[in-house]
Amino acid sequence: MNLIKVRSEFPFLRRKYQTRNDLELTQRGRTSFAKKPLAYLDNASTTQKPQAVIDAIVDAYTNHYANIHRGVYDLSVEATDLYEGVRAKVAKFIGAKDSKEIIFTKNTTESINLLAYCQGQSLKDGDEILLTQMEHHSNIVPFQLLAERLKTNDKRQIKIKYIPITADGRLDMSSLDRLVTKKTKIVSLTLMSNVLGTINPIKEIVSRVRSLGSKPIIIVDAAQAVGHMKVDVSELDCDFLAFSAHKMYGPSGVGVLWGKQEILEKMPPFMGGGDMILSVDFEKTTFAEIPWKFEAGTPSIADVIAFGKAINFVEKLGLENIRKHEMELTDYALKLLSSDSDITIYGPGSQTVIPAKAGIKRKILDRVENDNAGARGAVVAFNVDGIHPHDVASILSEEAVAIRSGHHCAQPLMSVLGIDPPATPEQAQDLRWRTGAACRVSFGIYNTKEEVDRLIAGLRKVRQVFRLSGHWDTRKNLTQKPSSLVP
Ligand code: PLP
Repeated sequence: MNLIKVRSEFPFLRRKYQTRNDLELTQRGRTSFAKKPLAYLDNASTTQKPQAVIDAIVDAYTNHYANIHRGVYDLSVEATDLYEGVRAKVAKFIGAKDSKEIIFTKNTTESINLLAYCQGQSLKDGDEILLTQMEHHSNIVPFQLLAERLKTNDKRQIKIKYIPITADGRLDMSSLDRLVTKKTKIVSLTLMSNVLGTINPIKEIVSRVRSLGSKPIIIVDAAQAVGHMKVDVSELDCDFLAFSAHKMYGPSGVGVLWGKQEILEKMPPFMGGGDMILSVDFEKTTFAEIPWKFEAGTPSIADVIAFGKAINFVEKLGLENIRKHEMELTDYALKLLSSDSDITIYGPGSQTVIPAKAGIKRKILDRVENDNAGARGAVVAFNVDGIHPHDVASILSEEAVAIRSGHHCAQPLMSVLGIDPPATPEQAQDLRWRTGAACRVSFGIYNTKEEVDRLIAGLRKVRQVFRLSGHWDTRKNLTQKPSSLVP
């Protein structure tokens, strides 16, 4: 893969930034430094867009724009064909049997909400939903809302259970036998964690769950996986799969929900309105066939059309090449970050730390040396001892390095990892561990090792600003605090 060529396709890299470090050195009489493009390391949040995708949006609005499925005039037919063409492309891209199985939504969040609503309505009192401790809020909150709704409206009690994670940030597969029961009706889990980077063995989980319980529907949140590794629904054998175009170089405002045809056909619609009906009279409505039954109202037409170009882009590069490149960067970052003793990394193949009891007593585990690439994706979450992730990210921003800081929409996981927010004033003063947040770097196809080096150099700058410069190792000396941090 030609990285220079790939980078030339992303216009955001043409914008240049003056870093604070270079500015300071220039002021101290060193020769001036060239401005640098942003080291964008927040791809798990959203990816930047190649020119082909940007051009496709402009082209759709300029030359092919009309509402779809409605007009009989040429322009509308043309827009419909382009839109439906992308549906067929998505189906092929993820190994769906038919393009009828592809529903366009707004994003992964809407895809999962649709399922929680449409599949959840039929749950009975005492039924169970199984999630995991590493889910994004998008794969927790819709089910909590469902449980609340069923309880309030119908006095139906739904129990939500969570598959725990192991010390090295994987799913505890040994808990499945205990957690899956005859009452389990929905299992929903992520293919790849947006914090730990863990890639879950979906195929194995699907077959274990099916052999244990009452044949629940199995939903896979593939927001972090599609576009970064090969995802084939026929191979995974799940019932539903959700993902977002904006995390795979496509436009925001477009999500995908794939579902097995026979289940989709029986499922009631989510929203009612235009385009999802066959006929309406004052008493009742007959719904359109799938997938249109689930696509009420005018969709993001131009964005869906441009999404087709993002798939072309990814296919042209090749998913194997993309995965190889992103894993090389992840391995490189893991190696460099784990060589600093004041950095705690979360997830497989790193120094995962899980408290013996959430947030109180920490147990430091031995380094897990033996695998990384197979078990994780291109996401590395970490904390620097004694420095809040928002401070880390702000100082890195001055070095034109963009990383994410915060709870990553995974607050329950933060608390499992022992980095939940302070519960007492004493804890609030202990800046060593209980930050409620973590730093996260995540790679895309345009990232380079040089950008990882800039991250590491930026972290040195962070320590300088906080006057920690590697002198303070909380794991060796938990009582010693630098004076600059004492409130
Ligand atoms: N699931 C996972 C694992 C994610 O990482 C994200 C976003 O970061 C989502 C779901 C939600 O995606 P969106 O905001 O596109 O709906």
